[in-house]
Amino acid sequence: MIPAASFSGKRVSLFGLGGSGIATAHALIAGGAEVLAWDDNPDSVAKAAAAGITTGDLRAADWPLFAAFVLSPGVPLTHPKPHWTVELARGAGVEVIGDIELFCRERISRAPAAPFIAITGTNGKSTTTALTAHIVKSAGRDTQMGGNIGRAIMTLDPPEPARHYVVECSSYQIDLAPSINPTAGILLNLTPDHLDRHGTMAHYASIKERLVAGSDTAIVGVDDSWCAQIADRLERAGRQVIRISKRLPLTDGYFADGTNLMEAVHGRYSRVAFLEGIGSLRGQHNAQNALAAVVACLKVGLDLGEIQAGLESFPGLAHRMEQVGRKDHVLFVNDSKATNADAAAPALSSFANRIYWIAGGLPKEGGIEPLRGFFPRIAKAYLIGEAAPAFAATLGEAVPYEISGTLAAAVEHAANDAAKDTGGEAVVLLSPACASFDQFKNFEVRGEAFRQAATAIDGVKPIGGPR
Ligand code: ADP
Repeated sequence: MIPAASFSGKRVSLFGLGGSGIATAHALIAGGAEVLAWDDNPDSVAKAAAAGITTGDLRAADWPLFAAFVLSPGVPLTHPKPHWTVELARGAGVEVIGDIELFCRERISRAPAAPFIAITGTNGKSTTTALTAHIVKSAGRDTQMGGNIGRAIMTLDPPEPARHYVVECSSYQIDLAPSINPTAGILLNLTPDHLDRHGTMAHYASIKERLVAGSDTAIVGVDDSWCAQIADRLERAGRQVIRISKRLPLTDGYFADGTNLMEAVHGRYSRVAFLEGIGSLRGQHNAQNALAAVVACLKVGLDLGEIQAGLESFPGLAHRMEQVGRKDHVLFVNDSKATNADAAAPALSSFANRIYWIAGGLPKEGGIEPLRGFFPRIAKAYLIGEAAPAFAATLGEAVPYEISGTLAAAVEHAANDAAKDTGGEAVVLLSPACASFDQFKNFEVRGEAFRQAATAIDGVKPIGGPR
């Protein structure tokens, strides 16, 4: 745990007692603060009280006495309207911050040289964070990973000069971290997302921009116009900016040329790493993630040999284009995290034309129409769950399909058909483009069911294991 000593001897109010809220309260108390915590959910309040945290209704609190108000990132700060606690804090002139801000203050006061890589973007945050942490750790460095992935940030080990932090940040967390100042900040990409919580795309982008604006080195994916403009703006403001592109040869920066990751210096190119043969990093989207990780690792002093070794041993994240098994020419891939059409697109674009596609579940608006461009790659579709009839109607004559109904039947039938395919590598791909709730508790349970069904098939060799 990182004791939050910046509020030693001061009073701090805290709202939101989910997992990270309780961890943050403990960190503040361990640092010597007097904490008053609350939540709208009585069960969460009771749990916090049982864990030794002082709780009390913040409506009745004496707000001007608080040195700060710590808000859980799940609670609205601005949109659709500020939470009542935020109104009370603002009315009393109390600063509103989150756990990432507490971490930043501790790092600056204890070990400002501790390498800190922060990662944001609309898509690919978790993959890039896990990959970066894996490379740094594989190089033998003391590595702490957390934030919006895995452990709440204040549960990590306290900052020391040689301790490396790799932290995933959601826009909500950045919004609550005004002094975020990573050694290397990564902004991968920006597409419309969470606009219910951020109002407009411009506001959402401006929050994401803060992470890279505060970085010693800003690493920005310039394949979308929002991020390209941010890179230009930061450079004009005199910040150090490194551009990355998953498709364009840049004059200066880093870009992907197929599976080769290239550095460009005034238009001269050299290869710095490669992804050929790395099953966990297939696809152009992963080239973007890998480029960001490579540049961040270079910035914290790793050499190219260490970086390449880390890329090659990256196991991938569960449920995101995760290779779970193989039998001869048939690969089984679990992309259960793809809960809408946009999220299924990278997987469908990463495999050639022998895809045995398992799709369906609880349908989302728009169905699979946005995936029509990938239909020629699909050898056959196996439809499950409530979405099956609608997906069948969209596939129509364009793609052979069956309504399998259940995931178990879909895996069995897809595996049989793929085994008979003589056209080279075939993939049985679960990338459902749907939520899971009609048949499973969540996408993780769905992904595990796929792994189990696939690896139970006679002759399938498991890759990796349950996580
Ligand atoms: P996040 O943490 O931002 O949600 P993940 O790394 O968990 O992102 O990836 C979630 C899904 O987003 C993946 O299954 C993949 O379909 C897609 N994805 C991953 N990286 C990228 C990227 N760089 N650009 C676009 N889509 C991506």
